[in-house]
Amino acid sequence: CGIVGYIGGRDAYPIVIKGLQRLEYRGYDSAGVALINEKNSLNIYKKAGKVKDLEDFVKDRDISGSVGMGHTRWATHGEPSDRNSHPHQSGDGRLAIIHNGIIENYGPLKEELITRGHEFKSDTDTEVLIHLIEDIQKEGNLSLEESVRTALHQVIGAFAIVIIDKESPNELIAARKGSPMVIGVGKGEYFIASDATPIVEYTKNVIYLNDNEIAYLKRDELIIKSIDNIIQTPYIQELNLKL
Ligand code: GLU
Repeated sequence: CGIVGYIGGRDAYPIVIKGLQRLEYRGYDSAGVALINEKNSLNIYKKAGKVKDLEDFVKDRDISGSVGMGHTRWATHGEPSDRNSHPHQSGDGRLAIIHNGIIENYGPLKEELITRGHEFKSDTDTEVLIHLIEDIQKEGNLSLEESVRTALHQVIGAFAIVIIDKESPNELIAARKGSPMVIGVGKGEYFIASDATPIVEYTKNVIYLNDNEIAYLKRDELIIKSIDNIIQTPYIQELNLKL
């Protein structure tokens, strides 16, 4: 339903939470965040209920880090619950994903992954996608970039996704097909969101990701490629949206 991501020099958590609150108008049943702290640990907190419930839940927990992402979920596959909330992780815990939309062929993909030894912690279509990426990566000893690309060729459906890899703690990967995704361009920082409302207070410069594009974001670098690995020239647009 709602997506927010941040990579830059500030603390990610306040930006992500504020962004999720700005997206609350869309309606949702659960909320969650993933943050990479200075020691490169990946901390994930998620809860059924309101963003406020998530904020209460993280009190006294480690919410530090300048790379992070958050999600509000509108359940399509799997009831609203803590364990079905996003972010979802790969089996080894290395990768985390947030996802808007539906992976239509998650059923057969899940069956195949189970025969290959994958164990699932949720009933969502989303968790299947991150396990698929993990499986492709390990099977072919591929980079995460190649694995994401290969996986996205195999899934049918609509998605906007953001992925964090704790072994590449200074990077976010975002992709879309059929679900909107906006990137805010700051100075030494980037913002990601499912619509511009969480971004407008930080920057007016935005890039609307096109279908079948994958964005690789570092603090000071943004590369956009097509799902067929062709570099795209991003079109930076100026927002004149008032909140
Ligand atoms: N299909 C996913 C789920 O049910 C994502 C739903 C959404 O867009 O929030 O978890």
